[in-house]
Amino acid sequence: MRKRTGVLSRGVATKAAVALTLTAALCVGNAAGGTAAGAQDQASEVEEHLTEATKNSGGDLDLVNTIRTYSCDAVEDPDFYDRTSAERHDTKVPLTRVFDDLWYVGTQYVGQYILRTETGGFVLFDTQNNAAEVAEYTMPSLRTLGLGDKHPLEAVFVSHGHGDHDGGANQLRAEFGPDLDIYIGSADAPGKAYDPELIDSGIAEPQEMTVGGTTIVVQSIPGHTPGALNFLIPVSQGKERHLMLLGGRQGHPRGVEAAKGYLTGTERTYRLVDEYDADGSILTHPTSDGSLVRMQAIDRAGTRSPNPFVIGEDRTLRAAAIWRGCAAAWLASVDPATDVPVWRVVSLEIEQPEARAKTVTAQLETGWGSPDTEPGWGVVAGQTVTFGVTGSRDICTAVTDDTGVATCTLDRGLRPGQEVTASFEGSSNAESVDLPANSTLRVAAR
Ligand SMILES: [Zn+2]
Repeated sequence: MRKRTGVLSRGVATKAAVALTLTAALCVGNAAGGTAAGAQDQASEVEEHLTEATKNSGGDLDLVNTIRTYSCDAVEDPDFYDRTSAERHDTKVPLTRVFDDLWYVGTQYVGQYILRTETGGFVLFDTQNNAAEVAEYTMPSLRTLGLGDKHPLEAVFVSHGHGDHDGGANQLRAEFGPDLDIYIGSADAPGKAYDPELIDSGIAEPQEMTVGGTTIVVQSIPGHTPGALNFLIPVSQGKERHLMLLGGRQGHPRGVEAAKGYLTGTERTYRLVDEYDADGSILTHPTSDGSLVRMQAIDRAGTRSPNPFVIGEDRTLRAAAIWRGCAAAWLASVDPATDVPVWRVVSLEIEQPEARAKTVTAQLETGWGSPDTEPGWGVVAGQTVTFGVTGSRDICTAVTDDTGVATCTLDRGLRPGQEVTASFEGSSNAESVDLPANSTLRVAAR
């Protein structure tokens, strides 16, 4: 029986400030003359974005080691991935449960995720390399998980049209017949023999699709391939619900236009993570975003609690900013004419407010924070922070001083249990984008 799959478009207008700040378009700067000065400029443009990727980790070593290293590798050390991936092709990862309703199976190089839907069926993300791997990995895994009339395979989503992701699709079509929906970005569909359902690669906005009662968000990010996709996948662990980003990081494409598209895709990814509050990421190349390290941690500890894939909204957003910095560095390395702004993740830290206090303060910082002396990084001075207090109409704005601190005086003293919120709308110019930031802290009892 063919399952109904609803497609709803969802706008991303609710965070207008983010959208406005982040739509800073590519601006063409340095002339492509190949002069010594031009080459120097371009080397520093590459360097600037590599620094961006590092600094946006905020000093988080997990992000540096799992996200930054693999996302910038193609720029810093083009052979890095190949050198370290050869053995990964041959190292099998058995069916591994990463959430109550999500499993991975394949090799350390590439594989697929199996999601159990609300109605008890299954959805696959990617298809393995070929028919032999469908027989070796996919079918036994689905049977182990209870594949049958009550637990059918409901849909397959292909992240993009490269053979290591859709090479098993013909075999899945042969196994499951003409009614199985196999989705792919429309720009990657030409020449595919497995009769895919198309997701319009021309639509930039995220789209929500419901399969077996489970809503999956799909977004086009042309770049790695013209039809490449992001997914947001709802997962659960006990009573906790989480939202994993599948995407954001595939290898950097050759060619200037593709590299520009790839950069745009990472910026879309940042907005997607921000809009939906994704709190972790997975990838079907599990080495490239730390998924493998996290699966190994589950194996070693023999438990999924706490789940190493859940890294929180702020850190997932930082991961997206790191991908963006690496993509900008890659574009600068392939296109001498490109000059794009640096993105800086801003942290906004509220000083613990106490009951009866009438003053609230918060500090705006980027990179390593106050000790960061790299030009453009560190404390953010001269920017407006808006404070609010729950249960009060008091809105107070203040401008950050030379140490990045904004101080506001409220009309009334704070009460225990109230929450102080602070927000920074972000700012941008031709050279840089300081990303928006928000923070909330509960008033302490005295
Ligand atoms: Zn690929």
